[in-house]
Amino acid sequence: MALDLSLNRYADVPYEEKERLFNEVKQDMRYEEYLYGCYECGICVAACPSARFYDFSPRKIAQTMAREDVETFYILLNDSIWDCSQCFSCDRCPRQNSPGGIITLMREVAVKNGLASAQQALEGYGRIVYKIMSTGTQVSPDMLQPNAFPDWGPHVKEISDNLDLWRKALPPETLHTTETGWQVSDKTIIELYLIWHYTGVMDMIKEVDEGLFMILADVMEERLEEEGYDVTFD
Ligand code: SF4
Ligand code: SF4
Repeated sequence: MALDLSLNRYADVPYEEKERLFNEVKQDMRYEEYLYGCYECGICVAACPSARFYDFSPRKIAQTMAREDVETFYILLNDSIWDCSQCFSCDRCPRQNSPGGIITLMREVAVKNGLASAQQALEGYGRIVYKIMSTGTQVSPDMLQPNAFPDWGPHVKEISDNLDLWRKALPPETLHTTETGWQVSDKTIIELYLIWHYTGVMDMIKEVDEGLFMILADVMEERLEEEGYDVTFD
């Protein structure tokens, strides 16, 4: 979808609600490290891979926040932030801004507030999130099989057909399995479950995907109970 900032698709959302979310982003303690003002020089756009493929601009993000333009912020919050690939190439900004960092904060606010756009953007990633959070490790190349991801298009088959080649492009060697990328110790997985519980990550999952939350909560509660922890996710 082309991003047309002149068309405000969210005109019916009360200004106070948009402002509340804007302030939530600004009040994050990391915000002042991510935005110092914007020259509008466009260096971040030149460095940004997503800007080459989408109607997307890290400059617009930094500029909108610097100008405190609440209406445009709300449009970007819904229609733009999920196009960022979080590579942080934009951190070469001469003003020392981090548009990618601002986008991280905006994504967190979108998820915490259960925005429909966040739910939609994360819809296709439920199995990935489940795999990462239940095993404590990332997806390995072997997991990219067409029967596991029929909705991910023809690229998944391309990857699985050329797995040896893709492996050469990855610096660390992962396990050759569809179960887990690396071995994770019992101590680490328990620590991760507790971190996700106590830092509110599980609450964020609940906001965007209640079904996924329930499955993960079952897995984590059972495992934590085995280790002697009395933790309930609710
Ligand atoms: S965020 Fe930085 S690099 Fe991007 S336009 Fe503003 S000053 Fe230039
Ligand atoms: S972090 Fe996002 S905005 Fe920054 S360069 Fe990467 S894709 Fe572009």
